Amino acid sequence: MLWTCPVLHCHSRPSSGGWQPLRFDGGAFYRKGTGELARALLVLRLCAWPPLVTHGLALQAWSQRLLGSRLSGALLRASIYGQFVAGETAEEVRGCVQRLQALGLRPLLAVPTEEEPDSAAKTSETWYEENLSTMLHCVDLSRALLDTAGQAGNGLMQLKVTALSSTRLCKELTACIQKSGGSSELSPERLAEAMDSGQSLQLPYLNAEQNQHLQASLRRLHQVAQHARAQHVRLLVDAEYTFINPALSLLVAALAIRWNSPGEGGPWVWNTYQAYLKDTHERLERDAEAALKVGLAFGVKLVRGAYLDKERSVSQLQGTEEPTQPDYEATSRSYSRCLELMLRFVSHHGSLCHLMVASHNEESVRRATKRMWELGIPLDGPVCFGQLLGMCDHVSLALGQAGYAVYKSIPYGCLEEVIPYLIRRAQENRSVLQGARREQALLSQELRRRLLGGES
Ligand SMILES: Cc1cc2nc3c(=O)[nH]c(=O)nc-3n(C[C@H](O)[C@H](O)[C@H](O)COP(=O)(O)OP(=O)(O)OC[C@H]3O[C@@H](n4cnc5c(N)ncnc54)[C@H](O)[C@@H]3O)c2cc1C
Repeated sequence: MLWTCPVLHCHSRPSSGGWQPLRFDGGAFYRKGTGELARALLVLRLCAWPPLVTHGLALQAWSQRLLGSRLSGALLRASIYGQFVAGETAEEVRGCVQRLQALGLRPLLAVPTEEEPDSAAKTSETWYEENLSTMLHCVDLSRALLDTAGQAGNGLMQLKVTALSSTRLCKELTACIQKSGGSSELSPERLAEAMDSGQSLQLPYLNAEQNQHLQASLRRLHQVAQHARAQHVRLLVDAEYTFINPALSLLVAALAIRWNSPGEGGPWVWNTYQAYLKDTHERLERDAEAALKVGLAFGVKLVRGAYLDKERSVSQLQGTEEPTQPDYEATSRSYSRCLELMLRFVSHHGSLCHLMVASHNEESVRRATKRMWELGIPLDGPVCFGQLLGMCDHVSLALGQAGYAVYKSIPYGCLEEVIPYLIRRAQENRSVLQGARREQALLSQELRRRLLGGES
């Protein structure tokens, strides 16, 4: 087992001296404008106010009725949308990304699509096809952003499977996986073959309509992966709910066979692992070992997990055991164990294994940088960091300044589509927004320093 094998590959050490803990004290804010800092403080304060998050959608509808869509749109653009979203057009996204690049941060574009299971329009084949075009465009934009910055290497973007395949089908496939206990009919190899050949699978568990939708979904996923590979953009597939995650992982495993094969230059399709699930460490170890055993590269976005309330309410409703860790401390212990596991895989297998430490948690980030130093993992190599646009800039900027590879997850799109998405995300991440108090304190300290000191 990996743990018993302490031999390290010989990478250059990140720094010649001892490990220096990063200081997340807001010192890096000096590179941001006063207006930006003031907006960040205002928006984070507003988002930490529970009634605003709970009734966000209703409030938005009210403000539209009272102020009209132009004025209410302008207010949103100056606040929440401006803080968390890059913009609507390619030009706006480019502007936002250029500002981040000047601060040493990189873009991880994310298309905020959300299926509405009760809406015929947002579950139709036409809607998934439109999303396919948007994803292909996102690949092109990710590539173009790298080119504009004159950066060599590869881009990264997020991919949400349920933008290309219905949640209903993923739920059905998950049930099949659980029933079939890994039969070859639902093996990643078989799906990979179907993706490559375009031939229909005709799974006996699914009806004709579902089989047709599966075939179309496989084609769409294949098309995005193929285009991303051609444009040198790595795809980080999002994890969602436990009632569909097994299907998502199966689809990622199928894509990995084709796109993470030896000689391809590392993993082009990564999966996301949520540390708040009880079985994640075990699954991560099993998946990494299985991939590496057959010579496939392995890419992981490691997160704590965003859907805690929904996971708990579903299991309570079904009377089943909660899949999530019992408390925050247990989730954090799980995150640390998964982080350690992946960093050891990286140190043993070099660039065959890639990891994004996707967290705003200062302790997790600090631990990752310390272990990278101890294991001799280079700062800008197969391990990178990820935070959301508009959140925890004091962490991102300190990491970027120290020379680590830091990506900001950047949603973009029109106001009408993105605001409901943002409000739902804020509702799921209530605890994170309420916990952003330290960021608020650092922001007001910096603003006070500038304004009282007469700086602009
Ligand atoms: C780049 C990026 C990509 C992401 N992609 C995904 C994705 O694909 N899928 C996904 O699910 N999430 C994703 N997230 C969100 C992520 O899962 C977390 O919700 C978010 O980052 C907050 O966790 P943290 O480590 O940053 O902060 P922290 O404030 O340290 O942690 C908050 C998290 O702790 C956990 N937690 C809080 N209270 C409890 C409790 N009582 N019991 C158990 N656990 C608890 C929850 O997971 C909560 O989100 C992504 C985040 C980033 C930055």
